[in-house]
Amino acid sequence: MTKRLSSIFLLTLFLSIPVLAQTIPSPKSVLGFTPGDDRTVAGWSQITDYFERLDQASDRVLVQTLGQSTLKRPLIVAFISARENILALPKYKEIQQQLADPRKITQNLQRDRLLASGKVVVAISCSIHSTEIVASQMSMQLAYELATAQDADTREILQNTILMLIPSPNPDGIDIVANWYRKTLGTPYEGREPPELYHHYAGHDDNRDWFMLNLKETQLITRLFWHDWFPQIVYDVHQQGSNGSRFFIPPFYDPPNPNISPLLLRQVGLIGHKVAADLQAAGFQGVLTNALYDTWWHGGFRTAPYFHNSIGILSEAASARLMTPSTVTNEQLARSSTRGMRNATESSTNFPDPWPAGEWRPRDIMSMELISARSILEMAAKFRVEYLRNFYELGRTNIESGSKSGPQAYIIPAGQARDEAVAKLIGSLIDQGVEVYRLDRELHAILATPIVRRTNPVAEKLGSYRRLASLNSPAMQEVPLGSYIIFLAQPQRTNVLTLFEPQIYPNRLTGQGEAERPYDVAGWTLPLQMGVEAPVVMAIKEPAKERKLTLLKDANEVRADLALTLKKGEESPIKNPLKQPVRVGIYKSSTSNMDEGWTRYIFDTFNVPYSSVRDADMRQGGLSSKYDALILTSQAATQIVNGNTAGTLPQEYTGGITEAGVKNLKEFVNNGGMLICFDNACDLAIKEFNLPLKNTLEGVRSSEFYCPGSIVALDVDNKHPIASMLPASVPAYFINSSAFSAAPDANVRVIARYANDNVLLSGWLLGEDKLRGQIALAEVGVGKGRIVLFGFRPQHRGQAWATLPFIWNALSSAASNTSED
Ligand SMILES: [Zn+2]
Repeated sequence: MTKRLSSIFLLTLFLSIPVLAQTIPSPKSVLGFTPGDDRTVAGWSQITDYFERLDQASDRVLVQTLGQSTLKRPLIVAFISARENILALPKYKEIQQQLADPRKITQNLQRDRLLASGKVVVAISCSIHSTEIVASQMSMQLAYELATAQDADTREILQNTILMLIPSPNPDGIDIVANWYRKTLGTPYEGREPPELYHHYAGHDDNRDWFMLNLKETQLITRLFWHDWFPQIVYDVHQQGSNGSRFFIPPFYDPPNPNISPLLLRQVGLIGHKVAADLQAAGFQGVLTNALYDTWWHGGFRTAPYFHNSIGILSEAASARLMTPSTVTNEQLARSSTRGMRNATESSTNFPDPWPAGEWRPRDIMSMELISARSILEMAAKFRVEYLRNFYELGRTNIESGSKSGPQAYIIPAGQARDEAVAKLIGSLIDQGVEVYRLDRELHAILATPIVRRTNPVAEKLGSYRRLASLNSPAMQEVPLGSYIIFLAQPQRTNVLTLFEPQIYPNRLTGQGEAERPYDVAGWTLPLQMGVEAPVVMAIKEPAKERKLTLLKDANEVRADLALTLKKGEESPIKNPLKQPVRVGIYKSSTSNMDEGWTRYIFDTFNVPYSSVRDADMRQGGLSSKYDALILTSQAATQIVNGNTAGTLPQEYTGGITEAGVKNLKEFVNNGGMLICFDNACDLAIKEFNLPLKNTLEGVRSSEFYCPGSIVALDVDNKHPIASMLPASVPAYFINSSAFSAAPDANVRVIARYANDNVLLSGWLLGEDKLRGQIALAEVGVGKGRIVLFGFRPQHRGQAWATLPFIWNALSSAASNTSED
């Protein structure tokens, strides 16, 4: 009797485990709807609230707040794993840190122990692009399922992997979209995208910041990934347009980045095919592989991992209308062939089962994303040791290859005139886990390009970049004390190479001879973009034991070296570079414009005050009484003048500056104001002000000229005040940008031209002759005022620091102009 009672007691205890599991709150019990239901959306506080409850109720879930977003919302990550793993997270973090740096592992036995005991760390990130909203909702369902499921497959996942689930790396954007969606629900505008950037500065470019680390969100997640946890697999969940495939998953399209290990590309492909097969087995149609998206460009959420020896997976589900179902007719399905996708209606090997058109719901997106996430976790769990070993081996190979002959290191020589750019560059490198040392004693080294001595800081500062193309004969020279050195013999060798080398994008043409556009930019070489000299070291005379080096911990050490103000807390420590106060207005269109967002980012970072000028302000006029200078960031003239088309959005978001605004701009310049135009916006100035300039690239076919996101050389007239203190040659960012010719005898002061030879410094340039010697930056006097036209993007993505001085110089001269009046 007693025995039977106790066994009943034990049985009850045993049964109580799943009973306990049932007390874990479902998303529906908290939200009042199941994530993915038509026309429902959870905002950020609902999402974080749900994860907090899950953290409290489940011993499989631990939620950590990484910090605050740009607009001060909590950025969270949920660790999900078996109870015993969650209790031992510090131990697993330590194992990851050792596997990430094979120099910490001195014996094979030690390595084998780590491989035997480690867990595969998988990061899943949802809705970095906030209008691709479904994944953020899916994250709650995925977490709930993993926290409650008792089946053997889920247990295997939980035992062998640690999931870092990021419900969104852009919390502000989730609320921007959720609030807008709720506001427009049931109106004619239901399902339309909000007419503002869904990241305060970057909008869609929040996924273009993963090596520069300008944004708080990228800084926080980069620390989580590449200082603390080193995920072996990073899965970035996106949505694409609505008329193509239903779901894209790797393998990717060409070209691959040559610095990505072939083993990584194979692993990416293997996981992608597993996802595709699982989706097919579950009855989903329209899955596409080997098309559209590529691995060339560095800087995305799933591309940065390749340069940290990790697997980056992207999925792109077809979009509904935010959380509203949409109907796609057969006629609407894409027919034209693009980058490996032949046709959305015909089957091909990489698209074997076309979707037959019809209704498309948020639930379809979510179901595919859940299968995909699950599929990736299953692979990670089943091949745990292989993933850990490959990850470790990639780091080890990097260290070995970096120690062989050939390039040994990059140096950032002391004494460059651009201290803030040097501090920013080194800070970004350290923040992404790259090792940077300071030389506490001179070194002697053979450099592929000589260091340019700058007794006169103005002269020839960037001359070395131009010589890079010709590779001067190597010679031993002294690398001065206080320089910085980045060795290639480090686990992140490929990251250093990919950030420092010039990119040489392959000449890819379509069957019609037009340029085949890259997925993103073609070139990004960071020292070039930032105007920082960084020659490659081929050999060092002093053996390791004779070198005196200090490993840097953060950007403040560099700032201290360079006698710059130190960064404290959240505020940017950079001093306003303007010589005197200037009243600056930056035009903010009703159509969201990332170039405008990045401009605000740069102004805030450099602590230069400005006001945003809205369409209504432009229409109202009286601009001279408020501003000395107005900036039109890169935007098409028609968009500036007309704004969003009436009827597409609520009335307050439609209409641009209109003809009244153009008239007021003219009055502003005629009265002595300075109008500064970036790239596309130059069109407006040229046409409306009848300037004696012509954009020579307008209407040119891509078979004749193409330059998609590349770094080009400018020849600069540094006697002009706007180029004051700049070198004679400056790298500039060109992204399908503009080039001008001037009428003979026209009253145009040319400040910079695209170089006469070796124009391309990094990326892809087809039809160089169309750019050679054309005007890149000019000033034209109009009435009492001036118009400054930048053909390129002087602040592109907050990365092009080499050309920022042109902006500061122009604004400084705007002030002096006004004070003379
Ligand atoms: Zn996206």
